[in-house]
Amino acid sequence: MSVHVQKFGGTSVGTPERIKHVARLILDTKKKTGDQMVIVVSAMGHTTDELIELASKVSSVRNNREMDMLLATGEQVSISLLCMAIHELGAKAISLTGFQARIKAEQVYSKARILQIETEKIKKLLDEDNIVVIAGFQGVADDTEIVTLGRGGSDTTAVALAASLNANVCDIYTDVEGIYTADPRIVPNAKKLKEVSYEEMLELASLGAQVLHPRAVECASSYDTIIHVRSTFSENVGTFVKGVEDLEVKNAISGVAIDKNQAKLALLQVPDKPGVAAKLFTAIADGGYIVDMIIQSVQESQNNDISFTVAKDDLEAVSMITKKVAEEIGCKAVVSDSNVAKVSIVGAGMVGHAGVAASMFKALGDAGINIQMISTSEIKVSCIVDLDECEHAARVIHNVLIPSDIAQ
Ligand code: ADP
Ligand code: ASP
Ligand code: MG
Repeated sequence: MSVHVQKFGGTSVGTPERIKHVARLILDTKKKTGDQMVIVVSAMGHTTDELIELASKVSSVRNNREMDMLLATGEQVSISLLCMAIHELGAKAISLTGFQARIKAEQVYSKARILQIETEKIKKLLDEDNIVVIAGFQGVADDTEIVTLGRGGSDTTAVALAASLNANVCDIYTDVEGIYTADPRIVPNAKKLKEVSYEEMLELASLGAQVLHPRAVECASSYDTIIHVRSTFSENVGTFVKGVEDLEVKNAISGVAIDKNQAKLALLQVPDKPGVAAKLFTAIADGGYIVDMIIQSVQESQNNDISFTVAKDDLEAVSMITKKVAEEIGCKAVVSDSNVAKVSIVGAGMVGHAGVAASMFKALGDAGINIQMISTSEIKVSCIVDLDECEHAARVIHNVLIPSDIAQ
């Protein structure tokens, strides 16, 4: 018998009515396919944000272990409620936390990676005709510690389960009908894609398209698990994320993404000598922080300016490290700006098309939007712009660069 994995996001289980709707949807799929059902759920609605807010009212110091303990409770509420709703419909269902489901993860609080899933228990429960409902976003490290997988991590739980249980497809049910050429809430004329490659989806997700967690895409790509992103609230077919060799059509550009979780740091008048950049970025890396764009400007005197971006959440910690290094290397000043965002365009088909970046810059220039930093790779171009202008930037870039006949 095949295993069918379905994941339902926060909005999909946001109210008791929606939980009942999801229960009916699961039973319909089970009836239609005859498959064994493994379900992953997120915390209800904005529960995770509310728990973070609650913690900030008790302490201004973030303790990652206790935060994970707290945040993992959100998903525990939804697994039990969903099971109760399934029981109401007369079917067997059992809920499992990440710990109970033996989802083994690294001991890195707040952004652990899944290492392995011991599936014996899940398989036994499925063979006893249970619908197995598993808490997303959490795992167990070192056999005792509850860890979470990073915001949006329930997608990764679902894909890792689908891969471990040899399911061919992992259904990700959410509040939009699939993957669009941009966030449809920000770019109203964004178009739904019929399919998108792992490579492009990983880039879109990493660049801020929150519809899928980047690690979920990584995992799907490693195990060749097809992801079907679709809406909980409509029966329409959504978007398939799969290997490039399986795509029917290859679009030159697949989408525009916005990342508002960006901040910029600049070191002014850094002495122009070997080893300075290494010292700075080694110290930041040793702290466990990821640096994204880096620009070093050339100046006529013996000094340079170095600017770089980090996640907004890391700004305070990285600022402290940077100021310490700045003092050691004799740099004049460190300035930071959290009022920025990154707008990117992604497409495997843009390789070698010099015109794509130029068109993007022209679209921004024509709209009077200043570009503060640029980075490019073979399949993406990203620009740092003012936070207040990023949504407008995404719309103008989308208008100019996404063809109206993009394969949907
Ligand atoms: P869930 O709670 O179901 O995991 P998320 O809020 O994490 O849902 O992700 C769905 C949201 O992702 C959508 O409501 C949409 O606003 C946003 N989004 C961003 N970029 C895209 C995109 N390219 N295609 C579809 N949705 C996108
Ligand atoms: N509840 C978690 C979050 O809000 C995980 C998820 O929804 O995927 O980030
Ligand atoms: Mg999500």
